Amino acid sequence: WDGQDSSAQEEKIFVAVRLRPLNERELSKNDVADWECINNNTVIFKNSLQERSMFPTAYTFDRVFRSDSPTRQVYEEAAKKIALSVLSGMNSTIFAYGQTSSGKTYTMSGITEYAVKDIYDYIDKHVEREFVLKFSAMEIYNEAVKDLLSTDGTPLRLLDDPEKGTIVDKLTEVTLRDSSHLKELLSVCESQRQTGETTLNEMSSRSHQILRLIVESEAHEYFGAENSSTLTASVNFVDLAGSERASQTLSAGARLKEGSHINRSLLTLGTVIRKLSKGRNAHIPYRDSKLTRILQNSLGGNAKTAVICTMSPAHSHLEQSRNTLLFASCAK
Ligand code: ADP
Ligand code: MG
Repeated sequence: WDGQDSSAQEEKIFVAVRLRPLNERELSKNDVADWECINNNTVIFKNSLQERSMFPTAYTFDRVFRSDSPTRQVYEEAAKKIALSVLSGMNSTIFAYGQTSSGKTYTMSGITEYAVKDIYDYIDKHVEREFVLKFSAMEIYNEAVKDLLSTDGTPLRLLDDPEKGTIVDKLTEVTLRDSSHLKELLSVCESQRQTGETTLNEMSSRSHQILRLIVESEAHEYFGAENSSTLTASVNFVDLAGSERASQTLSAGARLKEGSHINRSLLTLGTVIRKLSKGRNAHIPYRDSKLTRILQNSLGGNAKTAVICTMSPAHSHLEQSRNTLLFASCAK
């Protein structure tokens, strides 16, 4: 389904911004930090340079994280609740959005690790339900979907299932034995990502990675719930392509095939998120890109969504940082 009924649009998207510290390269070039968090919700442009008068200097979000905030805190305060809603049968998605080298992978891999641990802890404590966990991983590169748990590089097709919505045909779904099994699979994904013809960094700046944990549960027979229904939901951890890919190709007239495809998934995601955040009965163009089709059931409606926008504070990245803040502002 493409439409949204109005009751299903009440969930707002949680929007957070995370600054990273200046890195060695930036420090060695005497780059300076433009941005500072003045409280838990506001990031300001603190540079006294002339740019100051050219754009808004204060931006407010559900949460902002200083450059010295650990990933543990980002997880606890911006992702945990949304990730764990999968345990009560709600689909959810956590995105990392930002330019290359702003900290998307650093943030998302930590969040994934903490969430998985909490999910296993919860399952261990709740013996009254029986849980089955499954895992899938995919990458979207050039609008082609690749299975990160298979060595077969054939692009996967998307199919429309009347009940499940969009499904990724032939995507590997591994039933997990335990959390160490998942760790093994995550390293398989990592090595799969590196087999591309380009370097890892090049690849990861152009591709979207979706790690999906599927949680099925039903009341344990022993606890006497005969006709209880099975709950199935998934949580998606999404490490997006570098946001500069969208803006660069825009200004270059979207001439490169590759660029225009990256553009499509990122731009469509932007449109979808913007429309969802407006909360009106608008047409949501999920079908315009692979990324948004795959995530349709976990984005909008009753699904829970968090977008964590990562940012370099460096003055040399001012333009990209402003683009990121603009994106984040449109999402809230
Ligand atoms: P991206 O995935 O957005 O391209 P990375 O996550 O790879 O960026 O981060 C780029 C570099 O910066 C990595 O070496 C990473 O360890 C480091 N880094 C990113 N965010 C932080 C942070 N909040 N604190 C410390 N180091 C960070
Ligand atoms: Mg990365």
